[in-house]
Amino acid sequence: MSRRYFIAGNWKMNKTSSEAAALAQGVVEAVGNVSNVDIAICPTFTSLETVEKIIEGSNVKLGAQNMHFEKSGAFTGEISAAMLRELHCAYVILGHSERRQYFKECDCLINKKVKAAVASSLKPILCVGETLEEREANKTIEVVSTQTKGGLDGLTAEEALKVVIAYEPVWAIGTGKTATPAMAQEVHAEIRKVLAGMFGENVAEKIQILYGGSMKPENADELLAQKDIDGGLIGGAALKADSFAALVNSA
Ligand code: PGA
Repeated sequence: MSRRYFIAGNWKMNKTSSEAAALAQGVVEAVGNVSNVDIAICPTFTSLETVEKIIEGSNVKLGAQNMHFEKSGAFTGEISAAMLRELHCAYVILGHSERRQYFKECDCLINKKVKAAVASSLKPILCVGETLEEREANKTIEVVSTQTKGGLDGLTAEEALKVVIAYEPVWAIGTGKTATPAMAQEVHAEIRKVLAGMFGENVAEKIQILYGGSMKPENADELLAQKDIDGGLIGGAALKADSFAALVNSA
């Protein structure tokens, strides 16, 4: 496969700075020298600077969990792309289902963030995924296609190459329920079709599509063996250096 595997840890609202430092240290010790897999950890904003100092010089890259699309100004509580770049973030998670669900982020807003990230040389990890209700109503492909198209609307093919997609079925996030490898592969292949329709086959073949939703060392091998699954966006299992390292080693 020409695409590299990518394992990213989404720490969500966990770990104070000192706890984040300890976890980052553990991750660097375990996988800091791994060079055949792309690796990133995404702590909270308040731990970015601390974690960056620890992972500097290793193969572990830094990511943020969100950002605002405006460059600066009167947006109390928000963080800009330039602020993240200055802390050496390489990635930013955008459109996570928790942002969509609890903070009412829509495709239109997420699209603005994706564009702002790409313009600042931050690689967006654009999350898409259906709720249980939507899956049961046979709307999975429709929902995921709409979110993918909406999130990437207006990007050039060259810009699209800087984006990573994460397919995260909402019903699998933090629940211990994982999509079966076949279920996940089906959706990943559909996402790649949408990407091919938007940006051409060649570009679509190069974009990494990660799976997320209760991925852990016990189920990673089978998921990662699927043709269109290029890695994982890991929540719970990223909060322990040994399980995160096991996932990197599976890739
Ligand atoms: P989980 O979270 O691995 O804990 O299910 C994944 C995510 O939300 O990115």
